[in-house]
Amino acid sequence: MNIDSKTKIYGLIGHPVGHSLSPLIHNTAFLDQKLNCIYDCFDVLPENIKDAVFGIKALGIMGVNVTVPYKEMVIPYLDFISDEAKLIGAVNTIKNNDGRLEGYNTDASGFIESLLEQGVEIRGKNVVILGAGGAARAIAVAFSLNDVNSITIANRTEGKAYNLYKYIKEKFRTECKYTSLDELIDFDNIDILINATSVGMFPNVNATPVDEKIIRKAKFIYDLIYNPKETLFLRYAKKYGIKNSNGLNMLINQANNSFKIWFGKNFNKNLIVNVLRKKEFIK
Ligand code: NAP
Repeated sequence: MNIDSKTKIYGLIGHPVGHSLSPLIHNTAFLDQKLNCIYDCFDVLPENIKDAVFGIKALGIMGVNVTVPYKEMVIPYLDFISDEAKLIGAVNTIKNNDGRLEGYNTDASGFIESLLEQGVEIRGKNVVILGAGGAARAIAVAFSLNDVNSITIANRTEGKAYNLYKYIKEKFRTECKYTSLDELIDFDNIDILINATSVGMFPNVNATPVDEKIIRKAKFIYDLIYNPKETLFLRYAKKYGIKNSNGLNMLINQANNSFKIWFGKNFNKNLIVNVLRKKEFIK
């Protein structure tokens, strides 16, 4: 990588950002497409988030991804928000368009693409989302936009499950329910079960958001977590022979969709998969 006075800067703002795979993904794509660009991580403290966003404009940074906990907080400081990002209420991609900061969300589209790539039917399906945080919201909106039959939101804090349920009911015609995690034991007919909680993520790798009795009822199991590659949630899916996916496909697709917003073209997904495989993030 040749860095000179013309090198354009891209990056990730969040807190913390130390374990992100985004620099590896985007710098690989830049090298591959011979783009004189570099992608770095910016660990921003909450009290500095407004200055950080204005700094994108002031310093001529060309684009950033936004991660936890700032996907909602950046919105008031942007000049334009896409309809999808407005519906989700979160921005994960900012493009500096000649000094106009544009906010987009590529989590939802990245998630749906990852399901379609794995041959999972979405339309008419009954889905259960574990969690009611930012990722759960993006996924609930994505499913509602893609004509699922029903969405059930199950969360540790039931009040948050209720809020997300209410939001989906207000915005979409999708059938929606909410419940506690334990009450899922009474649910049948789960086509797609998604872990959108942080339970099972490194270093707490022996935790699962729901009991295996619930997991074994599902026809497809998706864990948004990609570190570890195989969570306990996915190990149970394997035990019962249920088709499953970790969060890497979504990560790669959302990164590609950000890249498309910045450069108007795709990156080479196979190359990215191979690089991640070499680094042992993928089996
Ligand atoms: P978030 O907004 O902080 O939400 C966290 C969720 O996890 C909440 O529903 C929370 O429940 C639940 N939770 C946390 N600890 C729990 C516990 N001990 N028991 C039960 N539930 C618990 O985070 P997020 O942004 O939605 O991210 C959620 C997960 O998705 C993370 O693992 C993240 O890495 C992953 N993710 C992956 C991708 C990808 O590209 N693959 C993209 C985005 C996110 P309460 O409401 O009760 O606190």
